[in-house]
Parts: sequence; C-alpha cells; structure tokens
Amino acid sequence: FVHQLADESVGMDELLISPLRLEPQPSLPLPADLYGAKRANSQGLDLAVASMREPLLAALASTPVPAVAEASTAEVDSASAQAVAAFAGWNHTPVAERAATLRRAADALQQQLPRFCALLLKEAHKTWGDAVSEVREAVDFLRFYANDAERVMAPTTLPGPTGESNVLRLEGRGAWVCISPWNFPLAIFMGQVAAALATGNTVLAKPAEQTPAVALEAVKLLHAAGVPANVLQLLHGPGETVGAALVAQPGIAGVVFTGSTQVAKIIQRALAAKDGAIVPLIAETGGINAMLVDSTALPEQVADAVVQSAFRSAGQRCSALRLLCLHEGIADHVIEMIQGAAKELVAGSPAALATDLGPVIDAEAFEGIGRHLTRLHAEAKPLLPAAAPATTLPNLIPPQMFEVKAIADVKAEIFGPVLQVVRWGGDPMDVIRQINALGYGLTLGIQTRIDSRAQALAAAARVGNVYVNRNMIGAVVGVQPFGGEGLSGTGPKAGGPNYLHRFCAEQTLTINT
Ligand code: GLU
Repeated sequence: FVHQLADESVGMDELLISPLRLEPQPSLPLPADLYGAKRANSQGLDLAVASMREPLLAALASTPVPAVAEASTAEVDSASAQAVAAFAGWNHTPVAERAATLRRAADALQQQLPRFCALLLKEAHKTWGDAVSEVREAVDFLRFYANDAERVMAPTTLPGPTGESNVLRLEGRGAWVCISPWNFPLAIFMGQVAAALATGNTVLAKPAEQTPAVALEAVKLLHAAGVPANVLQLLHGPGETVGAALVAQPGIAGVVFTGSTQVAKIIQRALAAKDGAIVPLIAETGGINAMLVDSTALPEQVADAVVQSAFRSAGQRCSALRLLCLHEGIADHVIEMIQGAAKELVAGSPAALATDLGPVIDAEAFEGIGRHLTRLHAEAKPLLPAAAPATTLPNLIPPQMFEVKAIADVKAEIFGPVLQVVRWGGDPMDVIRQINALGYGLTLGIQTRIDSRAQALAAAARVGNVYVNRNMIGAVVGVQPFGGEGLSGTGPKAGGPNYLHRFCAEQTLTINT
C-alpha cells in the first residue's frame, strides 16, 4: 500500500490526516419545499418505492398511454404566431402570480405521482425507482424556478451618484422553443418549460418523439394549474422536421435544448443563419464521463458508486459514468468487486418492482449500442458476460464492461449500460489532463481518501459536476446545479441560482432625479 502511494507521489502525512468517508457529506440547507431533494441519497429511493407499492401497481393497471398527433407545418406556424402574440400578457403578469401557478402545478404533480410514474414506466421503460425519482425532480423544478423567479426578477437598486437612480430589472425575452429528450421526459421537459414560464416567456415545447404522452399529460397539468393555452403549446414530431421548423420561426426569442452535441450544433447553425435578432441557445448535451480512482480509495465504495453511476437507468443519463480510470495497484481487486455487484443487478421488465435495469429506449438505440459492443468485443477485453440476443423482452442490454488500453481510445459516448475501464499509474493529474482532452465536460467522479488530491484534481478538471467518494448521477435540484462545458453544453446549470437569468432580458434604468 505504501509502495503504491509512493508511486502516486503522496505524502503519508496527507493520508494520515484524511478521514475515512463512509457517509455522504452533509449537504447545504435545503429549501423547505423541495420534494425530491429530501431524500438522503439514491439508496433511500428503494424504501420510497416499497412504501408506495400498492398505489404504483394500481396506477400501472389503470393508466393508458394516450396517442398524439404530429404537428403540421401550418400548426407550427400558427402556434408560433400565437406564442409571440401571447408574450406581452404573460410577461406583464406579476411574477408572484406566475410562480403561484407553477406551485399549483407542483402540488398537482406531487398528488399524481403514481399516475405519472406509470406513464414513465410504460412510455420510457423507467424502473419504478427511476420513475419515482423523476416525478420528484419535476416537482422540484417547478417549485425551485417558481421561488427563484421571484428572487431574480425583483428589481435591484444599484449604487450611483447623488441625483441619479439606477435600477436593474429583468423580464422575459419572448417565445422560447423548448426541445427536450426522452431520457428524462418529465423532469427535463418540466425544468425547461418551468424556467421559461416563470420568467415571463411563452413556450413552444417539442418533446422527444419517443415520449410524447408524458409531455402531453404534463402540459395538461400545467394548463389545469392556470397556464393559459396560448402561453404553453405542445408540438409533437421528429426533430428533423418539427424541431427544425420551430427553430426556423422568425419570432422566437430563444431555444433551450437537451440532447446530443451534434444536434445542439445543428440548432446553433440554424439560429445563426436566420435574419434578425441574435437568438440565444441553452444546450445541455452528453459526456464521456470519467471516474478517477486512486490507490487510497475504498474498494466497496468504488464498486457501489460505479454500479450506480454506470448501470442505473440502463446508463441512459448524460451524467452516467462511461470511463473508469483505476489505479493499477487496486484495479484487479476493484474490477472483481464490480463484476460481483454487476452480476447481482436484475435486468428485466420495468413493471417488476425488483428490476434494476429496464430495456433501452427503442430498437434504434439498441442497434446503435450493439454496434459499439461488436466493436468493443473486437478491440477491447470484455469483463462481463456478453449481452445475450434479445428474447421475449426487446431492447434489453444487461451491464457490459470492457477494459481498454488508453483513455484516448474512448472516442464516443455510448448511451447505454456500457462501461469502459482503463488502468493508470504515476501522476493522477496526467489522467485528468487526458480526460480533459476528450473535449467533453459534464460529470467527473473522484475516489480518494486524500483531501488535498480531491481538491486539486477537481480544480484541474474541465467539467461541470464533480462528485467525490460517491456516485456521480442524480443531481438534486437546488443542491447540485447540473450542466457542463465544452462538448457537453453551453451552461447555465439547470436547478442552479444562475439558470433563470439566461431566459431574461435585462434592462438598466437610469433616471436623473
Ligand atoms: N440530471 C441528471 C443526473 O444528474 C442527468 C440529466 C440527463 O441525463 O440529461 O443524473
């Protein structure tokens, strides 16, 4: 052990003063009305699901998945004209009233948790645990942005010379296009929409074509809570047609998008090519997220964090762990523990309460991941049994793990339960430099018992969210503002105190008194 430490240039004094951290660190005080955030950690969810077993199963039996119709070009044009026309009225509605409307929606969603869980399970193949967690996150987004809009939109009096008053005030920018993904069809959908609405904007929402029913029910709930129909409109259809038509509308004031880096750039180019105003884009995209494990890390903690981060939600989170960088001194031991833990995971039907991993979203995703698996079987060393061909349950991929030779070999984000492992020795700062060189910048895990090292590595990492000695998924609204940089997105961070400003126009009013 000491030999390994010498190898990583660690002083014994640093190690000796570092406490073992078996428990999560205390978090910031939570806003009293956050709902999902009250859970201590992801493990707490199992209890929550177990206690809701009966209502969840009843909802599964009684919740149909409504069909939706694709928007025509004429419908997109007319919706956009209505959104532009409705802006002045909504923007002049007092922020307290808009916030109250969103809080009513949050209360209704909290009450309807089992029904929305059933929809998430049926349409997005979420496990019960993931579904409960997602509904709670959506409730939190509604409450958080309602509260935060009241905070940020209060006019600020600025210091100035005698005889002059200076006030900074914020208002909405106009009609926003909100393009949301299938992997969090309720939480991210609601987060985008709630942020835009809270700040006085009108919304044209285009959910992923894989999960239209969740979005439809979410919009019905918002309308029932008091959001006017012309202030929030839903347009279904593929990104290539309906999404592109929305982005091309002349009157829109902004686009918020969560999805792939490639599509974010297509949107950015389309916005730049339009005549008229410069239209802002908020993009939250993917990541080749790494976890760096040094030789002082606790193997049990590492194995648990890796299994949660790489395989929970079938790896279909942009925060998920893709690349595990293990110090060579402990690599064999940790790999063995992960293999043991991964084999315990139940991959199966999301309807079963015991399922850890459901199928990936659709056949196209299954085939895409399959192509990566074929390539990895040829190029890398498999560390878990190969996925069996699809049987009765389509699109199911059990956890997969491969050892690769170098960080630079990992070229693509594989959006599924596929983990790549690489060994390292020497200076961990070199590992961070190689991770930075991949160009993404979303999440990073660090496992070490050396405080100074965790701080130094986090400071050198070009990523938006760093998680030390825990899993690296499930950012909590208002507690772990979420979002990245570089190929991972533009910022600002969702669920954070600086998010809403980007949806606002700011005016400085100077009056000679
Ligand atoms: N916020 C989610 C998390 O922290 C990920 C969101 C996403 O996948 O887009 O796990």
